[in-house]
Amino acid sequence: MITRLSHLFLRTLRDDPADAEVPSHKLLVRAGYVRRIAPGVYSWLPLGLRVLRQVERVVREEMNAIGAQEIALPALLPRDPYETTNRWTEYGDGLFRLQDRKGADYLLGPTHEELFALTVKGEFTSYKDFPVTLYQIQTKYRDEERPRAGILRGREFVMKDSYSFDLTDEGLAESYRAHRDAYERIFTRLGVRYVIVSATSGAMGGSASEEFLAESEIGEDTYVRSIESGYAANVEAVRTVAPAPIAFDGLPEAEVHDTPDTPTIATLVDWANGADLGRAVTAADTLKNVLVKVRVPGGDWELLAVGVPGDREVDPKRLGASLEPAEYELLTDADFAANPFLVKGYIGPKALQENGVRYLVDPRVVDGTSWITGADAPGRHVVGLVAGRDFVPDGTIEAAEVRDGDPSPDGAGTLTSARGIEIGHVFQLGRKYTDAFEVDVLGENGKPVRPTMGSYGVGVSRLVAVIAEQHHDDKGLRWPAEVAPADVHLVIANKDEAAREGAESLAVELDAAGLDIVLDDRKASPGVKFKDSELLGIPVVVVVGRGWADGKVEIRDRFTGESREVPAGTAVADVVSAVRG
Ligand code: ATP
Ligand code: MG
Repeated sequence: MITRLSHLFLRTLRDDPADAEVPSHKLLVRAGYVRRIAPGVYSWLPLGLRVLRQVERVVREEMNAIGAQEIALPALLPRDPYETTNRWTEYGDGLFRLQDRKGADYLLGPTHEELFALTVKGEFTSYKDFPVTLYQIQTKYRDEERPRAGILRGREFVMKDSYSFDLTDEGLAESYRAHRDAYERIFTRLGVRYVIVSATSGAMGGSASEEFLAESEIGEDTYVRSIESGYAANVEAVRTVAPAPIAFDGLPEAEVHDTPDTPTIATLVDWANGADLGRAVTAADTLKNVLVKVRVPGGDWELLAVGVPGDREVDPKRLGASLEPAEYELLTDADFAANPFLVKGYIGPKALQENGVRYLVDPRVVDGTSWITGADAPGRHVVGLVAGRDFVPDGTIEAAEVRDGDPSPDGAGTLTSARGIEIGHVFQLGRKYTDAFEVDVLGENGKPVRPTMGSYGVGVSRLVAVIAEQHHDDKGLRWPAEVAPADVHLVIANKDEAAREGAESLAVELDAAGLDIVLDDRKASPGVKFKDSELLGIPVVVVVGRGWADGKVEIRDRFTGESREVPAGTAVADVVSAVRG
């Protein structure tokens, strides 16, 4: 196909859009690939749509290759199934809700576990029908709190979501493995640098779950990895390496001290080091008790105290992930006033436990560890409070921040943090949804069996931004061949009629050789045309310019930046081999 820039519905922009902060967003707008309609809502213009379709094609090919079957469910969905699973409530403000003319509630689907479970229940009734995997490539809607970076985090976006249905746990593990392998092939073909991290299960409930994160400085997900072992995990999923418990015998008794004006860890450490305790004290010797209130969906707020070593902050994301599906909030002044036993800055285990506040501690607070912590009175702390002897927490919680240099949970090396963008998610859901909808099929022995599910997502539209983010330079985009909107960008940079005709026939021959050509036949200066070729990012740029008179055509590789001249006579073959690599 030959696409003439003189006809293409395209206008490139010289300046970055005012609302764009990250390179992919700036470039995709400047190159005329997408246009903003509302926060997190974008239109796809011709070249952008081509890239989106290319990503879809790769995803579709790899899904079909593992035997998944494509269907299409509506995005406009009735409330009822989501009520059954309680996600109508759990999704909170994240859901786009609407009513029809009769006042019936609907939603725009954010993900489709409910509908797939119901669809399979409606069609398949016997063990002979299983396993089965279904997928769709479909527009999803989520009222994201912070839509971001153009199509990177949209409120309307394209996702590939698939769902496997197996009768046994081994079957589910196999379906999961097939998806994980397919995802590796997809992201490799798309030219994305990524890591696979173990994830928390989030609001979905279930067991094994991994995320594919594209490596990117601008990513919102922080993950950690151990260079020594290749271990990688979402920060939310990192399990703290707990020390061995220590025997109590011989540990000194706990003692309450006057510690005037020590409401912060720093002031407390200063006091301790001036108090002649017989040892140097650091923030890691103190136990900080952070109060929050927690509510399970539909329930009442309850107090929760989280005890962490004083040298670490509570990481809101880790705390949130540990508490899910419950949500939490920080305490207000009114909450403190309503619970006068909570002495701000001096909260200790004693008052918490006497007043029935649930108390969860960092896994490092093992039995026999000795702490300096609040004594529940202004200006008073207790020294030598021993876990397991002087207080017994209600359990542990993964809420403390993970830091570079922390030991790797797999026992090999230490952790370093990096940032990534979630591009895919594979998830062994189990029977949560088949239980909710009582999906039962006739088993081999005549008894009913309940299928177990996996769900697997790929952020198709997000990938366009991710690829742009990983493959660009200061001049513009640099698409990997597999997703490029065309194979060749042919620039006519010579006003001479013979050169023009030569370029036209070169385009026709390249087209005949099966390549997609963008032909810059506009009446514009070579400078403008070159700039646009760099901005648009098609991998092979062919220039019919001044050299034409000497029988020369230039081939530029947008990906590597290399450029060479070839004889016009062999140009077709040279371009074809440049494209096919
Ligand atoms: P995130 O943590 O980035 O919000 P998620 O965990 O909510 O993503 P999933 O429910 O696992 O996302 O959805 C599957 C895939 O869909 C994600 O891996 C991601 O690539 C993509 N995706 C999710 N939300 C968005 C969005 N708002 N815009 C574009 N793509 C998205
Ligand atoms: Mg996810």
